[in-house]
Amino acid sequence: SSENDENSVSGSQLFLPSLDECRWSDKSVYGGKKKLRVWCQLRNGQWELGTVQSTSEEECTIIMNGKVVNVHPEYLLPANPDILVGVNDLMQLSYLNEPSVLHNLQYRYSQDMIYTKAGPVLVAINPFKAVPYYGNDYIEAYRRKKMDDPHVYAIADLAIREMMRDEVNQSIIISGESGAGKTETAKIAMQYLAALGGGSGIEYEILQTNPILEAFGNAKTLRNDNSSRFGKLIEIQFSVTGKISGANVQTFLLEKSRVVQCTEGERSYHIFYQLCAGAPPALRGKLRLKSANEYNYLKQSTCFEIDGVDDAKNFCTLMEALDIVHVSKEDQDNAFTMLAAVLWLGNISFQVIDNENHVEVVSDEALKNAADLIGCSVDNLVLALSTRKIQAGNDAIVQKLKLPQATDTRDALAKSIYASLFDWLVKQINKSLEVGKRRTGRSISILDIYGFESFHTNSFEQFCINYANERLQQHFNRHLFKLEQEEYIQDGIDWTKVDFEDNQHCLNLFEKKPLGLLSLLDEESTFPNGTDLTFANKLKQHLSSNACFKGERGKAFGVAHYAGEVLYNTSGFLEKNRDLLHSDSIQLLSSCRYKLPQVFAANMLNQSEKSSGQLWRSTGVDLQRQSVATKFKGQLFRLMQRLESTTPHFIRCIKPNNMQLPGIYEQGLVLQQLKCCGVLEVVRISRSGYPTRMTHQKFARRYGFLLLEDVASRDPLSVSVAILHQFNILPDMYQVGYTKLFFRTGQIGVLEDTRNRT
Ligand code: ATP
Ligand code: MG
Repeated sequence: SSENDENSVSGSQLFLPSLDECRWSDKSVYGGKKKLRVWCQLRNGQWELGTVQSTSEEECTIIMNGKVVNVHPEYLLPANPDILVGVNDLMQLSYLNEPSVLHNLQYRYSQDMIYTKAGPVLVAINPFKAVPYYGNDYIEAYRRKKMDDPHVYAIADLAIREMMRDEVNQSIIISGESGAGKTETAKIAMQYLAALGGGSGIEYEILQTNPILEAFGNAKTLRNDNSSRFGKLIEIQFSVTGKISGANVQTFLLEKSRVVQCTEGERSYHIFYQLCAGAPPALRGKLRLKSANEYNYLKQSTCFEIDGVDDAKNFCTLMEALDIVHVSKEDQDNAFTMLAAVLWLGNISFQVIDNENHVEVVSDEALKNAADLIGCSVDNLVLALSTRKIQAGNDAIVQKLKLPQATDTRDALAKSIYASLFDWLVKQINKSLEVGKRRTGRSISILDIYGFESFHTNSFEQFCINYANERLQQHFNRHLFKLEQEEYIQDGIDWTKVDFEDNQHCLNLFEKKPLGLLSLLDEESTFPNGTDLTFANKLKQHLSSNACFKGERGKAFGVAHYAGEVLYNTSGFLEKNRDLLHSDSIQLLSSCRYKLPQVFAANMLNQSEKSSGQLWRSTGVDLQRQSVATKFKGQLFRLMQRLESTTPHFIRCIKPNNMQLPGIYEQGLVLQQLKCCGVLEVVRISRSGYPTRMTHQKFARRYGFLLLEDVASRDPLSVSVAILHQFNILPDMYQVGYTKLFFRTGQIGVLEDTRNRT
């Protein structure tokens, strides 16, 4: 609730400039007395502040940067009065137009105030430098409510309080583009929860999951030196007394392809470089480790180091963290052995032996080391990488592989070992953080998941990520608009539902059966002759009538997402969705003499048996598993179900520039993100309701003296009604609730003006 319009002048709060809106400059409103501040849009799209000297229908004379200029009102938008500059909640702005919002955030950012509320949402702008607002003193201040400027701590504090008060689970949902600060924000929230709910020591273990998951799941990309390549939900569980009793981590869609291929300027997962740089001598010897630039998987990019990052030191931190979450030294060694095996696998090469492109595995150090590290014989590894068993009737035929098949088989094996290792690690962490018997079921979950992505070329990964974001956006919409409207209903006012940008159509495009993007993708993935092109054609054939779908030439198609249109290229879609692992590779792993490969193989078999084990047993060819998209959809559904049962708190992270540099605020970039994540919408819609609320008492006290009649003996409600009548506030513009009066934006401006003049 807010009483924030006390400082406002009347006027509309539309976002986009229109002639209509510019009539605010009507002299009758301002009487020409005040020097009105306006935003003037320059040719480059930037906004500059000016003051109005005189106005007419066609032209405004304004002073800008000390110069007098004449501008068509179309290029002007009202600016907020001085006293509203830098308000800590965008809801308080009298004018919510784009330049005003951008300027407010920029002003705060320039003062290192990186957090601002947008109604119920916390906006966090990445400072790209250390800001002095964290640590015990600040935690204490927020805990004791000595501090009320927007902060992640304030959100975490609210979550704890509401969890205790309402006995309802809470969630903190963090979104934003790559590099916007989601992971850091999640850690800051965890820090606060750990400080308030700590005591048993488990909070320390929970915090130590961060360096572990970051080592194995983060990598340097062109956008972020520490980019999370997986989504994460961490549920922190509390006892009845509000103390942390355990936690559980769930991960989503790890980017496997990075293990075997990597763009110039990026790196593979941090752990590989940490291991190569930081493994102690005994381990190095055992794993036959070389330096990172001697491994094919790592040297596809010339980037091996990150400015300001000490991989060797981080390896020590990682080992300590693993100790703390009770991963035994033996298991740690097993895990590192798998990593080394992946690296050596990548160095295995093939020699073409005939003119049909069939290959033999080159017998060298890489082959021997890889076999030793996985724990199988060289011969078995050679067979798995260069041949394929095919069942023909009752006979098994052994077929030699051609070069691309052999390389794919090798890479698929490396990817699946890595992904299995990641899953195994998460499982170990969860075992260690598991709640004791006395769990209460109260928890706060923190979601750090990839934001909407739209690049020059968009592939299967963006397809999945953006699908996830559609789901989250729906949750965001439903929740925020529901929340707002609930207050009206509670106070008994007459309220017809506000419409908001519903993205159900786009979700239908993805999820509808049998003719949605996901079903069609799965169908095409099971056809032996299906290709990326036949898939693209099928989409165009069946989905062209959907308004959110746009058929494009060749392998391309477009989707109108809530955050903008994205053009996808279907190249690689089918293969990535199938994510096949050769059954020979699984048999190889299950026959290994070490524990981890066996565990991995068992899990893979288990998975496929659950989906279509029949097929795999009868044909013995490629192992059919649930497709990646279908598995992801299932995960998302369960995630949404979990989130639906919580009270959500939203944090939208914003990246102020693409250079990862402090102090640079690019208006266009910020605006695009604000639009993308729906922040402007939320504020706008929140305000299109009745954003100004005041209790009957307060309203009567504040304006009662303006009444011409004597009201001393009357109750606050009837005084309030008398005021409304006297000032001719139109019935459309306010509502009388049981306890409060609700006003549309700008309505009490005239009361305030009169009050100030009196
Ligand atoms: P991705 O989607 O790629 O994982 P992300 O949104 O998780 O990106 P982060 O890794 O959290 O982004 O942040 C990127 C970098 O920005 C951090 O490594 C850190 O240098 C800086 N950063 C983010 N938030 C803060 C903060 N509150 N204070 C100081 N630096 C920050
Ligand atoms: Mg991250």
